[in-house]
Amino acid sequence: MIEIHNVHKAFGSLKVIRGVDLEIKKGEVLCLIGASGSGKSTLLQCVNGLEPIQQGEIQVDGISVHAKDTNLNKLRQKLGIVFQQYNAFPHLTALENVALAPRVVKRISKAEARALASKHLKHVGLGDKEDVFPSRLSGGQQQRLAIARALAMEPSYMLFDEVTSALDPELVGEVLDTLRMLKSEGMTMVVVTHDIVFARETGDRIAFFKDGRICEVGEAWQVVNAPREEHTRQFLKRVL
Ligand code: ADP
Ligand code: MG
Repeated sequence: MIEIHNVHKAFGSLKVIRGVDLEIKKGEVLCLIGASGSGKSTLLQCVNGLEPIQQGEIQVDGISVHAKDTNLNKLRQKLGIVFQQYNAFPHLTALENVALAPRVVKRISKAEARALASKHLKHVGLGDKEDVFPSRLSGGQQQRLAIARALAMEPSYMLFDEVTSALDPELVGEVLDTLRMLKSEGMTMVVVTHDIVFARETGDRIAFFKDGRICEVGEAWQVVNAPREEHTRQFLKRVL
């Protein structure tokens, strides 16, 4: 479980997260929606321990992310994260990209890492791309490669930050299908997305972010079809 309690985060004098409380339960898919600049990416970075916080606490499986004695490398193995920009190593094949982190971090043998990578590439539908370099993959394939890379660390949670925003429209579907597949397998996920239809259909709950606060959180269909807050209604009117 991921527990976010009264988190405040500022960059200098710019207050970006202003008192967020949120719990993500095991097996749950929580979608985060909200305008650009509302603090969604920053919150994910805080959960992953990439950004310090000024107040509050975030716990992942009971481990306090920002406590001084927390082993962040170990904690991050629980959290797979995939971003909007593709970030594969260009000089490594798809298989080598996926095998690298398990090999280095988990200290498994090269053969084991390759077998693991092969399994996860197949899982995201890239079984025939093992020896291909990232530049030869489409954007959708590169995002699936990024997902395979995260999955190869066998995380307990997956965090997705606008993973389809940079894709040509015809490539969005294959990446969303991969997320739906992970949900069907019971993966716990936090998905930052502008795709309200996806959020309503695939999210268990939706949290609507506004100005560094959660304006509204509830069951996905409720937040989209019957929002309680006027701000949510206005936001949905703009994006739907
Ligand atoms: P979102 O993901 O919802 O679009 P972000 O979390 O990226 O929002 O950004 C929230 C605010 O924090 C924005 O005003 C952004 O400019 C600012 N911000 C994000 N990262 C940094 C940073 N590293 N340094 C300074 N300001 C930042
Ligand atoms: Mg963002």
